[in-house]
Amino acid sequence: SETIKVALIGNPNVGKTSVFNHLTGLNQQVGNYPGITVDKKVGFSKLNETTRAKIIDLPGTYSLNASSIDENVVIELLLNKNDEDFPDVAVVVTEVENLKRNLLLFTQIKDLEIPTLLVINMSDRMQLKGIELNIPYLEETLKTKIALVSSRKNLGIDSIKELIVNYQSLSTEPCLNASSIDPEYFDRLRKAFPNQLLYKLWLVITQDVNFLNLQRKEIENNFTKSHTELKRLQQKETIKRYQFINDTLKIGQKIDKSKASDIQTKLDNILTHKVFGYVIFFGILLLIFQS
Ligand code: GDP
Ligand code: MG
Repeated sequence: SETIKVALIGNPNVGKTSVFNHLTGLNQQVGNYPGITVDKKVGFSKLNETTRAKIIDLPGTYSLNASSIDENVVIELLLNKNDEDFPDVAVVVTEVENLKRNLLLFTQIKDLEIPTLLVINMSDRMQLKGIELNIPYLEETLKTKIALVSSRKNLGIDSIKELIVNYQSLSTEPCLNASSIDPEYFDRLRKAFPNQLLYKLWLVITQDVNFLNLQRKEIENNFTKSHTELKRLQQKETIKRYQFINDTLKIGQKIDKSKASDIQTKLDNILTHKVFGYVIFFGILLLIFQS
């Protein structure tokens, strides 16, 4: 039987852990990356009679432009083909209400040329929020397959499993041409490291990742740029990605603005706060009576 290695990646609060729990049922265990405190959750998911998935629930991250330990954990796994958990398929989890922001990370993962599939979670909120998605258009433009999911309602989880089983048919084409960030610079990079993925080199140059140490030195010696210049190029990368995402969503997503701030959400919030208030109130009462 076959085990497919899957990395679950996404912004914080998109429902990644909820999806993970649905996929893995009760088979999950909690592990640690050596040396740091960030948890890496590992679970197994039975996909069909002969295939299972080993699923790594990575810490939530907004982008691959690492500024935190969490982001470094994600980058170091995705850049290191020798890591035992290097994924066969990257599953990027997003949610309907913050698709634009969530897709930034998706386009970066795509540029690493790992088979990538896109989960759009919280589909149960679409009607309420007046959101419509043109899934075929999004799949074509983002060069991926999409599973529209509600982990709250347990909908669409099977389609994730099916897409993972067939991961070899997922496109590994990038969304953005990395060299468009700075054609002259990337041209030199490409010539110096003809066998390396450009976007991977770019991440090694800009991030404080500590594998590929030798190569990093080599890159640094020949491709030094000032801190300000690197920051400027990073910003340029982000702008280019958002241009692409905006263009894609202009056709791929329709939002009925009149439903954007609805009464139900406000009610939800008030109720949650009230319940929370009661819990604290009675908790304190209990403490007083016990002492
Ligand atoms: P993570 O930070 O990405 O791991 O997200 P979690 O799984 O912890 O979920 C974040 C919040 O989103 C929690 O309050 C969940 O109850 C909620 N959530 C997760 N999935 C869904 C969904 O499909 N629909 C809705 N409406 N809420 C969801
Ligand atoms: Mg989580």
